[in-house]
Amino acid sequence: MTTDLNRRVREFHEYLDKMQALGRAVGLSHWDQSTGAPKGGVAGRSKFTGILAGMEFSMKISAQMKHFIDELGADRDILDELTRGLLRRCQRDYDAYAGIPPDEYGAFCELTARAEAAWEDAKHRSDYSLFKPFLSDIIAFKKRFVEYRGYDKRPYDALLDEFEPGMTVDQLDLFFGDVKGAVVPLLKRIIEARNKGGVKPVRTDFLSGVPRRRQLAVTRLVCEKLGYDFDRGLIAESEHPFSTSFGRNDCRITTHYLEENWLSSFFSVAHEAGHAIYEQNKRPDIQDTLMDDGVSCAIHESQSRFYENIVCRRREFWDYIYDDMKNALSPRLDGVGADELFAAANIVEPGPIRIEADEVTYPLHVLVRYELEKAVFEEGAGADDLPALWNEKYARYLGVAPKNDAEGILQDVHWSDGSFGYFPSYAVGSAYSAQFLAYMNREFDVGGAVANGGIQRLTGWLREHIHQYGGLRTPDELVRGIAGEGFDSKYYVDYLNGKYYSIYRL
Ligand code: ZN
Repeated sequence: MTTDLNRRVREFHEYLDKMQALGRAVGLSHWDQSTGAPKGGVAGRSKFTGILAGMEFSMKISAQMKHFIDELGADRDILDELTRGLLRRCQRDYDAYAGIPPDEYGAFCELTARAEAAWEDAKHRSDYSLFKPFLSDIIAFKKRFVEYRGYDKRPYDALLDEFEPGMTVDQLDLFFGDVKGAVVPLLKRIIEARNKGGVKPVRTDFLSGVPRRRQLAVTRLVCEKLGYDFDRGLIAESEHPFSTSFGRNDCRITTHYLEENWLSSFFSVAHEAGHAIYEQNKRPDIQDTLMDDGVSCAIHESQSRFYENIVCRRREFWDYIYDDMKNALSPRLDGVGADELFAAANIVEPGPIRIEADEVTYPLHVLVRYELEKAVFEEGAGADDLPALWNEKYARYLGVAPKNDAEGILQDVHWSDGSFGYFPSYAVGSAYSAQFLAYMNREFDVGGAVANGGIQRLTGWLREHIHQYGGLRTPDELVRGIAGEGFDSKYYVDYLNGKYYSIYRL
């Protein structure tokens, strides 16, 4: 590179450091708010966090940013890998947001801040009518944003692309078609087998009555077994479990302890630790840059679901962890075998709540939301139509009826901040995790490794093919880099059929 190009690259990196400083301050404030900051400070914190978020947004779409993109973009081929990756990320954000008039974006941010509080209140009172006017306004904003941004084929594509670069309605229609075609009959057979008395009842009596203090020890144990590095992470408590990262050296997770079911915190921690292990295993040379982050929501979910389901819900894992669990929960597991723990961890039961769903019914919950979002952005459905559509689809796909709005349409926070297009990442991520498992099994016996406490071997594989790159490679580049083929739902369908046909002896 010439001296002049070196200087321009350095200025670009310095600009991004300032932008990222704002982003991390916003993230820290959010962490603080969710993990025990005094309620009294909500208004003040929201105000100043909003100002910081606005400053970060302005830097993403500034004339200076456009200048960097144009000027450095012309020299893209001779740039180093990191700067090329940063440039691609900045270009994406610029294309997505630059067309939105700043005043309108400000009004939208203010609306979503109020909408989240309104959603919380509406959910608490189980009354959709309190949230409906906000949702209606948010939809109107998002429809305008889609038009400002533009799209090739379908308006909903523009929203999907925000979370999963390149993902389209056409691809998702095929994916959900395959999943629906496999999961709906599988679920039907499981329920029929149970109704006919062909399935041994599963014991669950040992799941309740474990105090928070004991569960704390269990969640720490799970994290250690999975290889989560506590020198670069910590576990806190929050109402809804989540993970957040401030680069590879500070990856935090939260959980929520339920006395009536210790498996809830067990699996939520395994899930969030999966997100954090991905973050902790990135290459040191991208540390504290915009690439020191996951590449997309679905790839992130593929890692959390990998540790939660493919590792922690498999038979060999319960053999491996059994003695430690028995000790940690003593005497609660006296007389309970590893096979009973495994069975309790894999009960398939259609219910109304997505985050409590088992592996089989989970993608159907996501399918419902996908079809509703498509109805809103492609078929003219509005906030008034959503509850009836919600109930109709839950009855059709899961055979359940929510008892009230809190258990139905108000259960998820996502729409209150305008995150339309996010939900499909959950199902696509689960499918990616099954695809990675299939590839891993071609190289070594994954079950055998888990049985012998060799989870680091699985993590080593994921580090080599996925984790290390952070945001440097696109999801498609990551997947094709492993076996030369793109995302394919057949691995997910085979995984679910293989596992649950065997458990339920269908
Ligand atoms: Zn997750």
